[in-house]
Amino acid sequence: MRRICLFFAVIVALTVVSPAVFAGPSKSEAALQAKSSAKKNDRFSGFIERLWPQARARGVSRATFDAAFKGMTPDAEVIALTKKQSEFVKPIWDYLASATSSARLERGQRVMRDYEQAVAAVEARYGVDRSVILGVWGMETNFGSYTGGKDVIRSLATLASIGYRGTYFRDELINALRILEERHVARADFKGSWAGAMGQTQFMPSSFWRFAEDFDGDGHKDIWKSVPDALASTANYLKENGWRSGQPWGFEVALPKGFDYRVHDASFAEWRARGVTRADGQALPQDGQASVFYPAGADGPIFLVTSNFNVIKRYNASDAYALGVANLGDLLQGGSRIQAAWPTEDQLLAFSQRIELQRALTRLGYDVGKADGRIGSRTREALRDFQERAGLRPDGYPNRRVLEALKVN
Ligand code: CA
Repeated sequence: MRRICLFFAVIVALTVVSPAVFAGPSKSEAALQAKSSAKKNDRFSGFIERLWPQARARGVSRATFDAAFKGMTPDAEVIALTKKQSEFVKPIWDYLASATSSARLERGQRVMRDYEQAVAAVEARYGVDRSVILGVWGMETNFGSYTGGKDVIRSLATLASIGYRGTYFRDELINALRILEERHVARADFKGSWAGAMGQTQFMPSSFWRFAEDFDGDGHKDIWKSVPDALASTANYLKENGWRSGQPWGFEVALPKGFDYRVHDASFAEWRARGVTRADGQALPQDGQASVFYPAGADGPIFLVTSNFNVIKRYNASDAYALGVANLGDLLQGGSRIQAAWPTEDQLLAFSQRIELQRALTRLGYDVGKADGRIGSRTREALRDFQERAGLRPDGYPNRRVLEALKVN
C-alpha cells in the first residue's frame, strides 16, 4: 500500500494530544501539561534511540541518523490527524468535478506544454500512456502545486513512536533515513504529507526504493524538484504494477435495452455482440477484456474498464480516485467529459444507513464482514445477489431504493 488514507484513523493508538492546549489552561493545568509533554518527549527520544540498531543494520550512518533527528519532538498535529474520522463520503460526482475543475485543467495544459519533451520521453521509455501519468500528477498534487509541507522524518517518527498501524511507519522511517543517507534530497527539503507521502506524485519511502527513477541523470532520484524524475518514477510504478501498454484504461459506455446485468466481465468482442457501445461514438477495441463498472449504480454513468484501471487503483485503492485520474488524463488529451447524468443526491446513503444496509444483508445470511459503513467487494456482491432475487437491476450499488427493499425482506 503506497499511501495511508484517513479511513485508517479508525484504528488509533491511545496516546492523546492534550485538548486543553487550545482551551486556555489554568496555571496548575499548564504545569501538568508541561510535565506530560516532557514525558512524551522522553518517550519519543527513547523510541529514537531504540531505533538506532535497526537503522545501522540497514546502512544508515550515525551522522545521518543524528542529523535527521536533531532537536526533534513529536508532531501533535500528525497524531491529531490519525484520529480524524471521515464518516462523510463525498459523492463521486462532487469528487470528479473537483478532479477535473477548470483551474486544474488549465494548470495541466500549462505543465504539459512546459514539460512536453519529458512527458513524451517518459511515455516512450515505460510504455505507460501520458494521460494517466499526467492524471496521477494532477490528482496527487495538482501538478506539483501542493506537495505537503510536513517534515517527513518527523511525521514518520511520530507515527512510528505511537505504534500507529503496527510496524508500517517504523519501516517507512528506516526507508526515509536511507534516502537521506544516499543524499537524494537535502535534509531541509525532505518534506511531504502528514503520513509521509513525498514529492510531486506522493511516494511513500518504501515506494521510493522500489520504483523511483533518476530520469534526468544527475545522480539523484529527486521526486520533489525534478519533474522528469517524478514522472518517470510514477510511470515505473504503474509499469511494475502491471500496466499493459497499448490498452486503454476504459471508457464510458451506453448499455442497450434489455442488457443482462448479470454479466460483469467479457471480451470487447462479446460486449460488442451484446450491443454495448462507447459513449463518445468510437468503436470498441478489437482485442482485450473489460469489466462493466457502475460508480453510481445503473442509474448513473457506466464504464467498461480494463486491467489498467486496476493498476491505477494500486496507486490509491478508491474507485473515485482512479476515475478522477482517468478522466482528468483523458480531458488533458482532448477526450470528452462524462456524458450520462449522475443520479440525484436523494438516493445517497448516509454513513448510518450504509451500516443499516450491511446489517440487513447479514440478517439475510450474507457474509459482508463487519458492518463498518464501508462498501467493499463483499457488500457489493451480496447486494447484487439480493437485487437479483428482489427483481431489481443487479448493479451492486447501495442506494435508498435497495435499502428500502432490504428492510421489507
Ligand atoms: Ca535526477
